[in-house]
Amino acid sequence: MRSQEGSVHGSFANPDSCPALVLNADYRPLSYYPLSLWSWQDTIKAVFMDRVNIVSSYETYVRSPSFEMQLPSVVSLKSYVKPARYPAFTRFNLFLRDRFSCQYCGHRHDLTFDHVIPRSRGGQTTWENVVAACAPCNLRKGGLMPAQAEMFPMQKPYRPSVTDLHKNGRHFPPNYLHESWQDYLYWDSELEP
Ligand SMILES: [Zn+2]
Repeated sequence: MRSQEGSVHGSFANPDSCPALVLNADYRPLSYYPLSLWSWQDTIKAVFMDRVNIVSSYETYVRSPSFEMQLPSVVSLKSYVKPARYPAFTRFNLFLRDRFSCQYCGHRHDLTFDHVIPRSRGGQTTWENVVAACAPCNLRKGGLMPAQAEMFPMQKPYRPSVTDLHKNGRHFPPNYLHESWQDYLYWDSELEP
């Protein structure tokens, strides 16, 4: 069923603002973090290569002299792909793991990243050594080790699973959500007690 919001995406909408949500063959998103989205060009290519089923469409058409097609908003893969077990190491995912709050003082503004063991001491840019930190804390800690600065992260940095990010992610939609996507997102985590 289309709500009235659907009319926003009328036939004059820019196709570039019409990515398709990509579902696995089991109708769950191919990935959550980042959310699996394809450009309309990649989506149409996959349709013609017979790799996907069209589940839902925008009201936007692309037209050429010999061709007209409604842009898919949700597609599902015809063959199942084993999903990645761990989310990608991205800025967004790291902030999400740390609930968008500074791991030293808890503030949510002016967030940056801090290497717990500074890069100058051989600290690496990994899930286990980078935390969200506000700019003032980051500046205060500078190139010091945690014990020298007497600044320790609230939680030991770790590589999160998709489930971990789900728990933090319910209030942080991964991207702009088209109405036709809502049925396919988060249902597995919402079933948890
Ligand atoms: Zn702080």
